[in-house]
Amino acid sequence: MQEASVFKGTAIYQQITELDSVYTGIEDEQTEWKKVTPFHCPSGCGSCCVDFEPDVMEVEALYLAAWMLHHQKERALSILDGSFVSPRPDPDSGCAFFDPESPYHCTVYGGRALICRLFGYTGDRGKDGLGRWKPCKFLPENAEDGGEHRKRQYSSAELQERFGATPPLMSDITARAIAIDPGTAGKRYPLMEALAIALRRLQLALRFLDAPPEPDSPAPDFPRPRAV
Ligand code: SF4
Repeated sequence: MQEASVFKGTAIYQQITELDSVYTGIEDEQTEWKKVTPFHCPSGCGSCCVDFEPDVMEVEALYLAAWMLHHQKERALSILDGSFVSPRPDPDSGCAFFDPESPYHCTVYGGRALICRLFGYTGDRGKDGLGRWKPCKFLPENAEDGGEHRKRQYSSAELQERFGATPPLMSDITARAIAIDPGTAGKRYPLMEALAIALRRLQLALRFLDAPPEPDSPAPDFPRPRAV
């Protein structure tokens, strides 16, 4: 992730880079699924973000924080000084980065959280451990299959039979993200809370990187985010 290159040589950079690989893998797998599934998110939908604020792992917050410091620095700093203004009139109702007026809706798309990348084109595992998939509940009645199977759940076997492929599975992708920092055991925090902590960590890291310690002095130990 080019936006994180200023942190090269730190553990933060390592984690962000590993998460970037996970995100790239999601895109690759979803691209294959999108080629065969008849269910596609309608252009400009964004319904899954309206009443939803993601809970994120520390590494996801670091990724978004690095992206914002590169692309939206003033906005990122406004989160730290308390002057951040959400583009939505009801920021307590869902994600504060959702812009109802924009046709693209997400205002931090390149840095968005893991779950935001999974909506719509990812399946899960049932109690039997097998993959399954249900079309998004926000798909309109005139979805490409005519609405007939819009709210059905498909087994992996059915998907293979009908479409010759299966979507990536949420649990498998999440496990890859958790493995980046297994010490946190995938613990999650509300997005804005985690993002403020991540921004502070990155600012502190930048201070150390701008003024490297003397050759024999111990490496700085970056503080861990507080638990909530
Ligand atoms: S970060 Fe973007 S994609 Fe994720 S919930 Fe917020 S507006 Fe939606």
